[in-house]
Amino acid sequence: MSLRTRIYIIALLLSSLACQGSGIAKTFSLQDSLAIYQPGKSYTFKVESAIGEYALAIEYIAGDAASKLILTSPHGGNLKPEFMHTRSKDFVSAANEVDYGDTESFSAVSDSKTLELTLALAEEIRKATGLRPHVVLNHLHRSKLDANRALSLAAQGDKNAIAAWKAFHQYIDDAKSQVAKNGPGLVLDIHGNAHRPQRTEVGLLLSGKDFGTGDLEKLADKSSVRALVRSGRATMKELTTGDTALGTLLNQNVFTATPSKAYPNPIDANAFPDGRYFNGGYNTARHGSRFSGNISAIQLEFNSDVRMNDKSRNDYARAIAKSIIGFINKYFN
Ligand SMILES: [Zn+2]
Repeated sequence: MSLRTRIYIIALLLSSLACQGSGIAKTFSLQDSLAIYQPGKSYTFKVESAIGEYALAIEYIAGDAASKLILTSPHGGNLKPEFMHTRSKDFVSAANEVDYGDTESFSAVSDSKTLELTLALAEEIRKATGLRPHVVLNHLHRSKLDANRALSLAAQGDKNAIAAWKAFHQYIDDAKSQVAKNGPGLVLDIHGNAHRPQRTEVGLLLSGKDFGTGDLEKLADKSSVRALVRSGRATMKELTTGDTALGTLLNQNVFTATPSKAYPNPIDANAFPDGRYFNGGYNTARHGSRFSGNISAIQLEFNSDVRMNDKSRNDYARAIAKSIIGFINKYFN
C-alpha cells in the first residue's frame, strides 16, 4: 500500500467519524428514498480494492428542501487510488452507448480548484439566501473517472469507476427529484478553463457559430434551458445575451463572461482570438432540459484567476453567488 493510499484511508476514517451523515458503507448502495437525505449532511460513495482498501469517490451534500439549485463538480477531484485503472487516450469507447450528444473527446486533465470553488459558491449562496443548494462532487481525479462523459469513455471499463459514475449521476437525479417538487430548477456544472484572454464561459449547448449567425429563438430545442423557453418564462436571447442572462450578471459582478450582453459572441475574433469556447458537455445535456423535464442546466467554465488563488477564491465566489442568485430570482421563482 502506497503512502498516498494510506492517507486516503486515514482521511476517510476521519471523515466518517466527523460526519454522521456519511452513511453509505461498503455495499455501495445508494439511498433508496429521498426522505433519507438530511439537508446539510454529506453522503459519500467509496470505491474499494480487491483487498478491502477504500477511497472516497463521490459526495452528495443534500440541499434544503426549498432549494431550486444543484451545483456539480465533475472535474475538480484529486484522488488517484492506485487500485483503479488509469484512463488512456487510446481507449476506444462503445459506439452505441446512449450519450446525450456528448462529443466523446478524451482528457485526463483536472479542472484545478473547481471542487473548492463549488463548495465556496454553495456556502456563499447559503449565507445570502438562507437556502443550501444541493452539491454533488466527484473526488476522483479525471485520470480515474471523467464524470462529464458517457459511461464507456468516462470509466473505460474499470468496475470502480463504473460504480462511481453511476453514483455521481444517481445523486444528481435524486437532487433533481427533490428540486422538481418546487417547480423548475437549475443544475450548474462547474468547470475551469485555461483560455486566453481569461474569461468565464457560459455553456447552454449552443455552439459559437450559433451565436455568430443563428436565430437563437429557433435553437431553443437544442439548448439545455429548453424548458425555460418552452414554458414562456424567457426567450433564448434573454437567457444568453439579455440584461438578465447569467453571463451578463456574471459580467456585472466578476469580469469577462461570454455569452453576455457585453460579449454576445463567444468566438468573436476581436475579443477572443483563440476562438475557443466550451459550450456544455454530457452533464449539461443529460441533466438539463434539452431532452426532457423541468430542470435546466448550464455549464460554467471559470478562468484561472477566479478559482486558483486560495486567498481570493471566496471573494470571487461571493460575487459569482450574487449573479447566480439574481438569475434564479428572475427565472425560477
Ligand atoms: Zn471540466
